[in-house]
Amino acid sequence: MTATRAPDVLRFAPSPTGRLHLGNARTLLLNALTARKRGGRFVLRLDDTDRARVREEYAEAIREDLAWLGLAPDVEVRQSDRDALYQAAFARLQAAGRVYPAYETEEELDRARRLARASGRPPVYDRAALRLTDAKRAAYLAEGRAPHWRFRLSDGRIGWDDGVRGRQEIDLGSLSDPVVRRDDGSFLYVFTSVVDDVDLQVTEVVRGEDHVANTAVQIDMFTALGAAPPAFAHHNLLTAADGAGLSKREGSLSLGALRERGVEALAVAAYVALIGSAEAVRPIADLDALAALVDLKRLSRAPARIDEDDLQALSARTLHGLDHAAVSSRLLALGVGGGAAFWEAVRGNLARLDEALDWWRIATAPLPATAERPSGDDASFLAEALRALPPEPWDETTWKSWTAALGAATGRKGRALFAPLRLALTGWPHGPELAKLLPFIGRKRAAERLTPRG
Ligand code: GLU
Repeated sequence: MTATRAPDVLRFAPSPTGRLHLGNARTLLLNALTARKRGGRFVLRLDDTDRARVREEYAEAIREDLAWLGLAPDVEVRQSDRDALYQAAFARLQAAGRVYPAYETEEELDRARRLARASGRPPVYDRAALRLTDAKRAAYLAEGRAPHWRFRLSDGRIGWDDGVRGRQEIDLGSLSDPVVRRDDGSFLYVFTSVVDDVDLQVTEVVRGEDHVANTAVQIDMFTALGAAPPAFAHHNLLTAADGAGLSKREGSLSLGALRERGVEALAVAAYVALIGSAEAVRPIADLDALAALVDLKRLSRAPARIDEDDLQALSARTLHGLDHAAVSSRLLALGVGGGAAFWEAVRGNLARLDEALDWWRIATAPLPATAERPSGDDASFLAEALRALPPEPWDETTWKSWTAALGAATGRKGRALFAPLRLALTGWPHGPELAKLLPFIGRKRAAERLTPRG
């Protein structure tokens, strides 16, 4: 009999309180590709319990961003649907004496933290609520104060073998007992996340290193709930070019904004998955190829800076390597024809995919009256070129045979031979290889473009 091992389950758990940015995308890619590599499952969990800040349009945008990146989750859950689960888990903690009511207001807690700092103590909650007399508690309730609830952390240290950082140990005494339930009865992320990870049988949590302290707290909670904690891996964070955290740059480095600027999804995926790791950032052909390069153990420990110019350059290089099959439906949607041959003619000249349409128009529509023309000095050369135009059918060899004959007849070579032809035929001094473009321009248009204007 072969022992069957439960599949790996990883999850991406954004809060729909804003657009996803490149930093979120790093967490997303590392989870989704690790799941893919291990033949595991990938869960999208919307952490939407903060009712004041959550907006449905952000949840929708997150789904769109995932679809754009080609990372469809196997299942989607939202925390707002799962309150019964949290209630039940909370009741268990309550029965086990692991949560306690506290009555301090935000201002009182703030003052206590400031006092602690001022006297050189760490701003850790002093568990005053555990020492309340019954009379005091009754007085608070009579005042109309509803309690919030804290999880009582165990004593001692919590350790785990981090998938990125290696052995980690944290003294729970250095942390405050976390608030797990607000005074309005709603639950907080640090708790709901644990309940969900148990319920969804998550095997590994991959997230940013800003969550390291949460992990110590959450491992203690898994244990309090009688569950084995998953593995944890905390990746280094991405920063803007000036070193600032990305949440402050949500606007310009959001996935939606990059998509609008024509950055390729595969380039974003490769960039955020490979930057700040031992693997060079490079264009990839598809997500499977990228998954093969992703290795949590090879991530660096230092934060990695994003450079949008590098990302744009990677996007262009990604396009240059893409097969027609990978872009055919997008080209069709743009109105670009010519199949694989046209794509192969122009892809090396594109910074963004939609520029293929510019070249398609240049090849197949009348040139605008404003298009650049060769100077008058080239008039007799162009007249000669017109006379020498070979008969159709044209293919990729036409350009070579035409220009060879023309060179021999006029004595021109190199730039003097090619530049006026390119300018007359396309209206541009630079562009795709003419051998490949010429068959799309065709004899009729080529002849018109070589004819002097009236
Ligand atoms: N909603 C949390 C965040 O976006 C999830 C963290 C986690 O992966 O546990 O930071």
